[in-house]
Amino acid sequence: MAGDGLQIVGRIRSCFPENFGVPRQAGLVPTAIAELRFTREFSRKELVRGLEQFSHVWLLFLFHQALAEGWQPTVRPPRLGGRRRLGVFATRSPHRPNHLGLSLVRLLGIDQEGDQPVLILGGVDLLDNTPVLDIKPYLSYADAVGDSHCGCFEQEDVPVVVTFSAVAGDFCRDYQLQTGRPLARLIEEVLAADPRPASQRGRKKSFGMSLWDVNIRWQVDGNRFHVLSCTVTGTAGSPTLKGIQAPR
Ligand code: SAM
Repeated sequence: MAGDGLQIVGRIRSCFPENFGVPRQAGLVPTAIAELRFTREFSRKELVRGLEQFSHVWLLFLFHQALAEGWQPTVRPPRLGGRRRLGVFATRSPHRPNHLGLSLVRLLGIDQEGDQPVLILGGVDLLDNTPVLDIKPYLSYADAVGDSHCGCFEQEDVPVVVTFSAVAGDFCRDYQLQTGRPLARLIEEVLAADPRPASQRGRKKSFGMSLWDVNIRWQVDGNRFHVLSCTVTGTAGSPTLKGIQAPR
Protein backbone atom coordinates (compact mmCIF):
# COMPACT_ATOMS: atom_id res chain seq x y z
CA MET A 1 0.00 0.00 0.00
CA ALA A 2 1.28 3.46 -0.91
CA GLY A 3 -1.05 5.14 1.63
CA ASP A 4 -4.64 4.82 2.87
CA GLY A 5 -6.68 3.38 -0.01
CA LEU A 6 -3.84 3.70 -2.54
CA GLN A 7 -2.23 0.73 -4.23
CA ILE A 8 0.83 0.48 -6.42
CA VAL A 9 -0.37 -0.72 -9.83
CA GLY A 10 3.09 -1.11 -11.34
CA ARG A 11 6.74 -0.15 -11.27
CA ILE A 12 8.90 1.69 -13.75
CA ARG A 13 12.02 0.06 -15.14
CA SER A 14 13.87 3.02 -16.61
CA CYS A 15 17.30 3.89 -17.92
CA PHE A 16 17.92 6.09 -14.82
CA PRO A 17 19.36 4.08 -11.91
CA GLU A 18 20.25 7.28 -10.02
CA ASN A 19 18.90 10.80 -9.65
CA PHE A 20 21.67 12.74 -11.42
CA GLY A 21 20.79 12.80 -15.14
CA VAL A 22 17.05 12.21 -14.79
CA PRO A 23 15.33 14.88 -16.95
CA ARG A 24 13.54 17.59 -15.01
CA GLN A 25 10.30 17.02 -16.91
CA ALA A 26 8.75 14.33 -19.05
CA GLY A 27 9.11 14.78 -22.80
CA LEU A 28 12.43 16.66 -22.63
CA VAL A 29 14.46 13.53 -23.43
CA PRO A 30 12.49 11.47 -25.99
CA THR A 31 15.04 8.61 -25.92
CA ALA A 32 14.50 8.11 -22.17
CA ILE A 33 12.67 4.79 -22.50
CA ALA A 34 11.08 2.76 -19.73
CA GLU A 35 8.94 -0.27 -19.17
CA LEU A 36 5.96 -0.16 -16.87
CA ARG A 37 5.61 -3.58 -15.26
CA PHE A 38 2.35 -4.21 -13.47
CA THR A 39 2.17 -5.65 -9.98
CA ARG A 40 0.58 -9.09 -9.72
CA GLU A 41 -2.93 -7.89 -8.93
CA PHE A 42 -3.03 -5.48 -11.89
CA SER A 43 -1.12 -7.57 -14.42
CA ARG A 44 -4.09 -8.53 -16.58
CA LYS A 45 -4.72 -7.83 -20.26
CA GLU A 46 -8.26 -6.59 -19.67
CA LEU A 47 -7.02 -3.61 -17.62
CA VAL A 48 -5.25 -2.14 -20.67
CA ARG A 49 -7.80 -3.13 -23.32
CA GLY A 50 -8.12 -0.16 -25.73
CA LEU A 51 -5.09 1.68 -24.34
CA GLU A 52 -3.06 0.90 -27.50
CA GLN A 53 -5.02 3.53 -29.47
CA PHE A 54 -3.53 6.40 -27.44
CA SER A 55 -0.23 8.07 -28.26
CA HIS A 56 0.40 9.38 -24.72
CA VAL A 57 -0.56 8.52 -21.17
CA TRP A 58 -0.54 10.38 -17.89
CA LEU A 59 1.27 8.60 -15.08
CA LEU A 60 0.52 9.28 -11.44
CA PHE A 61 3.38 8.05 -9.34
CA LEU A 62 5.14 8.28 -6.04
CA PHE A 63 8.44 10.16 -5.65
CA HIS A 64 9.56 7.21 -3.55
CA GLN A 65 13.18 8.33 -3.27
CA ALA A 66 12.13 11.66 -1.76
CA LEU A 67 9.88 10.22 0.95
CA ALA A 68 12.60 10.11 3.59
CA GLU A 69 13.52 13.77 2.94
CA GLY A 70 9.98 14.99 3.68
CA TRP A 71 8.51 18.08 2.05
CA GLN A 72 9.29 21.80 1.93
CA PRO A 73 6.78 24.70 1.93
CA THR A 74 9.03 26.59 -0.50
CA VAL A 75 11.60 25.29 -2.98
CA ARG A 76 14.17 26.63 -5.45
CA PRO A 77 13.46 25.11 -8.88
CA PRO A 78 16.69 24.22 -10.75
CA ARG A 79 15.26 25.67 -13.97
CA LEU A 80 15.33 29.12 -12.35
CA GLY A 81 19.02 28.65 -11.57
CA GLY A 82 18.33 28.01 -7.87
CA ARG A 83 17.96 31.77 -7.38
CA ARG A 84 14.20 32.06 -6.78
CA ARG A 85 12.19 30.50 -4.02
CA LEU A 86 8.61 29.56 -4.89
CA GLY A 87 5.78 27.93 -2.98
CA VAL A 88 5.86 24.17 -3.40
CA PHE A 89 2.48 24.23 -5.16
CA ALA A 90 3.95 26.61 -7.76
CA THR A 91 6.55 23.97 -8.65
CA ARG A 92 6.86 20.32 -9.72
CA SER A 93 9.28 19.49 -6.89
CA PRO A 94 9.42 15.90 -5.53
CA HIS A 95 9.55 17.42 -2.01
CA ARG A 96 5.83 18.03 -1.71
CA PRO A 97 3.06 16.84 0.60
CA ASN A 98 2.10 13.28 -0.41
CA HIS A 99 5.07 13.09 -2.83
CA LEU A 100 2.78 12.58 -5.82
CA GLY A 101 4.20 12.97 -9.32
CA LEU A 102 2.44 13.50 -12.64
CA SER A 103 4.09 12.88 -16.01
CA LEU A 104 2.81 12.88 -19.57
CA VAL A 105 4.75 10.22 -21.48
CA ARG A 106 4.62 8.66 -24.93
CA LEU A 107 3.10 5.19 -25.20
CA LEU A 108 5.45 3.42 -27.60
CA GLY A 109 3.75 0.05 -27.38
CA ILE A 110 2.24 -2.65 -25.23
CA ASP A 111 4.22 -5.89 -25.06
CA GLN A 112 2.73 -9.16 -23.93
CA GLU A 113 4.72 -11.49 -21.74
CA GLY A 114 2.46 -14.51 -21.72
CA ASP A 115 -0.76 -13.08 -20.34
CA GLN A 116 0.96 -10.09 -18.74
CA PRO A 117 1.00 -6.69 -20.47
CA VAL A 118 4.08 -4.45 -20.26
CA LEU A 119 3.82 -0.80 -21.29
CA ILE A 120 6.75 0.62 -23.27
CA LEU A 121 7.09 4.34 -22.58
CA GLY A 122 9.18 7.15 -24.05
CA GLY A 123 10.26 10.55 -22.71
CA VAL A 124 10.14 9.57 -19.04
CA ASP A 125 11.52 11.63 -16.14
CA LEU A 126 11.39 8.73 -13.68
CA LEU A 127 13.94 6.91 -11.62
CA ASP A 128 14.23 3.16 -12.05
CA ASN A 129 11.81 1.35 -9.71
CA THR A 130 9.39 4.30 -9.35
CA PRO A 131 6.01 3.04 -8.04
CA VAL A 132 3.09 3.94 -10.31
CA LEU A 133 -0.32 4.61 -8.72
CA ASP A 134 -2.47 5.17 -11.81
CA ILE A 135 -2.39 5.45 -15.61
CA LYS A 136 -4.78 7.53 -17.69
CA PRO A 137 -4.92 8.16 -21.44
CA TYR A 138 -4.04 11.66 -22.66
CA LEU A 139 -7.13 13.15 -24.27
CA SER A 140 -5.92 15.85 -26.64
CA TYR A 141 -9.43 17.24 -27.22
CA ALA A 142 -9.67 18.09 -23.52
CA ASP A 143 -6.11 18.12 -22.14
CA ALA A 144 -4.34 20.22 -24.81
CA VAL A 145 -4.37 23.90 -23.87
CA GLY A 146 -3.84 26.54 -26.53
CA ASP A 147 -3.56 29.69 -24.41
CA SER A 148 -1.31 28.51 -21.59
CA HIS A 149 1.60 30.40 -20.03
CA CYS A 150 4.08 29.44 -17.36
CA GLY A 151 5.50 32.71 -16.12
CA CYS A 152 9.12 32.68 -15.03
CA PHE A 153 9.54 29.07 -16.25
CA GLU A 154 9.22 30.34 -19.82
CA GLN A 155 12.79 31.05 -20.84
CA GLU A 156 15.10 30.34 -23.73
CA ASP A 157 17.35 27.32 -23.22
CA VAL A 158 20.98 27.94 -24.16
CA PRO A 159 21.85 25.49 -26.97
CA VAL A 160 24.65 23.09 -26.05
CA VAL A 161 27.13 21.18 -28.17
CA VAL A 162 27.77 17.55 -27.22
CA THR A 163 30.89 15.77 -28.46
CA PHE A 164 32.35 12.32 -27.73
CA SER A 165 35.95 11.18 -27.32
CA ALA A 166 36.91 8.41 -29.77
CA VAL A 167 36.84 5.81 -27.02
CA ALA A 168 33.42 6.93 -25.73
CA GLY A 169 31.99 6.99 -29.26
CA ASP A 170 33.27 3.44 -29.93
CA PHE A 171 31.81 2.24 -26.64
CA CYS A 172 28.36 3.65 -27.47
CA ARG A 173 28.37 1.99 -30.91
CA ASP A 174 29.36 -1.42 -29.47
CA TYR A 175 26.87 -1.07 -26.63
CA GLN A 176 24.02 -0.32 -29.03
CA LEU A 177 24.98 -3.29 -31.22
CA GLN A 178 24.98 -5.61 -28.21
CA THR A 179 21.89 -4.34 -26.36
CA GLY A 180 19.79 -2.41 -28.88
CA ARG A 181 19.93 0.61 -26.56
CA PRO A 182 20.64 3.94 -28.33
CA LEU A 183 23.16 5.10 -25.72
CA ALA A 184 24.84 7.93 -27.69
CA ARG A 185 21.51 9.54 -28.52
CA LEU A 186 20.35 9.22 -24.91
CA ILE A 187 23.56 10.84 -23.63
CA GLU A 188 23.20 13.71 -26.15
CA GLU A 189 19.62 14.41 -25.11
CA VAL A 190 20.33 14.16 -21.38
CA LEU A 191 23.29 16.55 -21.65
CA ALA A 192 21.34 18.93 -23.92
CA ALA A 193 18.90 19.34 -21.02
CA ASP A 194 21.89 20.21 -18.75
CA PRO A 195 21.45 17.95 -15.70
CA ARG A 196 23.86 19.94 -13.50
CA PRO A 197 22.49 21.47 -10.31
CA ALA A 198 22.46 25.28 -10.41
CA SER A 199 25.33 25.42 -7.89
CA GLN A 200 27.62 23.49 -10.28
CA ARG A 201 27.07 25.64 -13.35
CA GLY A 202 29.59 28.13 -14.63
CA ARG A 203 32.58 26.02 -13.57
CA LYS A 204 34.85 23.94 -15.77
CA LYS A 205 34.51 20.57 -14.12
CA SER A 206 33.98 16.89 -14.85
CA PHE A 207 30.90 14.91 -13.87
CA GLY A 208 29.74 11.30 -13.72
CA MET A 209 26.29 9.86 -14.27
CA SER A 210 24.75 6.45 -14.83
CA LEU A 211 22.43 5.50 -17.68
CA TRP A 212 21.25 1.88 -17.74
CA ASP A 213 24.30 -0.06 -16.52
CA VAL A 214 26.86 2.40 -17.90
CA ASN A 215 28.81 5.04 -16.01
CA ILE A 216 29.48 8.10 -18.16
CA ARG A 217 32.14 10.72 -17.43
CA TRP A 218 31.83 14.10 -19.13
CA GLN A 219 33.15 17.60 -18.74
CA VAL A 220 31.74 21.01 -19.48
CA ASP A 221 33.34 24.13 -20.83
CA GLY A 222 30.83 26.91 -21.42
CA ASN A 223 28.13 25.38 -23.61
CA ARG A 224 30.36 22.51 -24.78
CA PHE A 225 29.72 19.12 -23.18
CA HIS A 226 32.41 16.56 -23.94
CA VAL A 227 31.87 12.86 -23.14
CA LEU A 228 35.19 11.47 -21.92
CA SER A 229 34.48 7.81 -21.18
CA CYS A 230 31.83 5.15 -20.68
CA THR A 231 32.26 2.04 -18.53
CA VAL A 232 29.90 -0.77 -17.60
CA THR A 233 29.07 -0.55 -13.89
CA GLY A 234 28.44 -4.27 -13.45
CA THR A 235 24.85 -3.87 -12.22
CA ALA A 236 22.18 -5.44 -14.41
CA GLY A 237 20.23 -2.25 -15.21
CA SER A 238 16.74 -2.37 -16.64
CA PRO A 239 15.92 -5.06 -19.19
CA THR A 240 16.69 -4.65 -22.87
CA LEU A 241 13.79 -3.06 -24.62
CA LYS A 242 13.39 -5.58 -27.41
CA GLY A 243 14.54 -3.30 -30.21
CA ILE A 244 11.88 -0.65 -29.66
CA GLN A 245 13.34 2.62 -30.86
CA ALA A 246 12.44 5.93 -29.29
CA PRO A 247 11.02 8.53 -31.70
CA ARG A 248 13.40 11.17 -33.00
N1 SAM B 1 6.83 15.33 -14.27
C1 SAM B 1 6.80 15.00 -12.84
C2 SAM B 1 5.90 15.97 -12.11
O1 SAM B 1 5.77 17.11 -12.56
O2 SAM B 1 5.34 15.58 -11.09
C3 SAM B 1 8.18 14.98 -12.24
C4 SAM B 1 8.86 16.31 -12.22
S1 SAM B 1 10.19 16.28 -11.05
C5 SAM B 1 10.79 17.95 -11.15
C6 SAM B 1 11.40 15.37 -11.96
C7 SAM B 1 12.55 15.00 -11.07
O3 SAM B 1 12.10 14.15 -10.04
C8 SAM B 1 13.62 14.21 -11.78
O4 SAM B 1 14.53 15.06 -12.40
C9 SAM B 1 14.26 13.41 -10.66
O5 SAM B 1 15.27 14.18 -10.06
C10 SAM B 1 13.13 13.27 -9.65
N2 SAM B 1 12.57 11.93 -9.58
C11 SAM B 1 12.14 11.14 -10.60
N3 SAM B 1 11.66 9.97 -10.14
C12 SAM B 1 11.75 10.03 -8.78
C13 SAM B 1 11.41 9.14 -7.73
N4 SAM B 1 10.87 7.96 -7.96
N5 SAM B 1 11.68 9.54 -6.45
C14 SAM B 1 12.24 10.75 -6.20
N6 SAM B 1 12.59 11.63 -7.16
C15 SAM B 1 12.35 11.28 -8.44
